[in-house]
Amino acid sequence: MWAMTLIISSAILDELHRYANEAAPEEACGLLFGEGNTVLRALQTANVAENRQHYFEIDPAALIAAERTMRDGGEAIIGYFHSHPSGSVEPSETDAAMAAPDGRIWLITNGKEAAAWQAGACGEIFERFTPIPLDCQSTNSLTAGS
Ligand SMILES: [Zn+2]
Repeated sequence: MWAMTLIISSAILDELHRYANEAAPEEACGLLFGEGNTVLRALQTANVAENRQHYFEIDPAALIAAERTMRDGGEAIIGYFHSHPSGSVEPSETDAAMAAPDGRIWLITNGKEAAAWQAGACGEIFERFTPIPLDCQSTNSLTAGS
């Protein structure tokens, strides 16, 4: 599934920026749940990297639990988010090395702006990431249910 845009509500985007600002100067990270190319929920997880000012690693326990829930028919993980306290919302070479070519979204926020990328077997950035425009919608226009 190759998304043309990533649909995300302004409320969720604000939440991601807040996580980034609260974690600075360390990187925040977590999971994005949704359907197709629409983000319905973000879940911040612990960053378990040793050097959290420059790297992130999603808490494996949280990731495994979410993957299991998804396999059992629960919320689908459509991607990951993390922050770059340094300011750039472009993926780093380390990000590319860590990303599996699985079609999931990588959303990067610097606390003010965000950009999304899709991880694939080939891409414009480090042969891994293809930019995906964000379609930010006011919360009211999203009918995500529950
Ligand atoms: Zn990064």
